[in-house]
Amino acid sequence: MRYSRQEAFSGLGHGSQQRLNASVVTIVGVGALGTRVAELLCRAGVGKLILIDFDKVELSNLQRQTLFTESDVGISKVEAAADRLRQINSEIEIVSFDKKLAFDVVDGFIIDCTDSLEIAFMINDFCVKSKRAFIHGSAAGSRGTLYCYAADRPCLRCFIPAAKNPETAATSGILNTAVSMVATLQANEAIKHIVGKEMEKSYLRMDVWNNSFDRISVRKKKTCICSQ
Ligand SMILES: [Zn+2]
Repeated sequence: MRYSRQEAFSGLGHGSQQRLNASVVTIVGVGALGTRVAELLCRAGVGKLILIDFDKVELSNLQRQTLFTESDVGISKVEAAADRLRQINSEIEIVSFDKKLAFDVVDGFIIDCTDSLEIAFMINDFCVKSKRAFIHGSAAGSRGTLYCYAADRPCLRCFIPAAKNPETAATSGILNTAVSMVATLQANEAIKHIVGKEMEKSYLRMDVWNNSFDRISVRKKKTCICSQ
């Protein structure tokens, strides 16, 4: 009953729901993108969610970090998020790590929800070496980006320069609508991957303020680690 509306969608069905229930997803960063992605995947019935973050909830997070309430301010993000997710869906397993990213606790499919290009590249390198798929997303101001990596596709290093000061929510502010847009796409592509459908191949770039949405095709760089 819980998933009846989802199973009724022609792209999924009962078999796909069983795959979702048997799947494991690691969410790195449980802030704006991470809370939204975690909530969507929890409600969709992903069997096990692994949450990694070392931050505490702050009042300024509540504008966009949708699993938190005023009573969570000052406590660990992963603990507050795990409590809320268990209230939403007690049938799935939630494991939380109140620490910086360590790859020994990572399992299943990885979703990068940090606002750090440095960590995105760490996840990228780990996934390229282990031929593991992952989804990168970012949001700042009214803009967002999304890229789905899978073995043999170009990696993030092929087309994203390691900028010294990349735009973040702290430097450019952020609209909660931009975050929701990127997080929705991240969760959507994750569900597609889990049920065996091909994820989006283009690098997506959007701006919710102008309603612009670009699909950019990307190529492997010959000198990149993913081409070795
Ligand atoms: Zn590459």
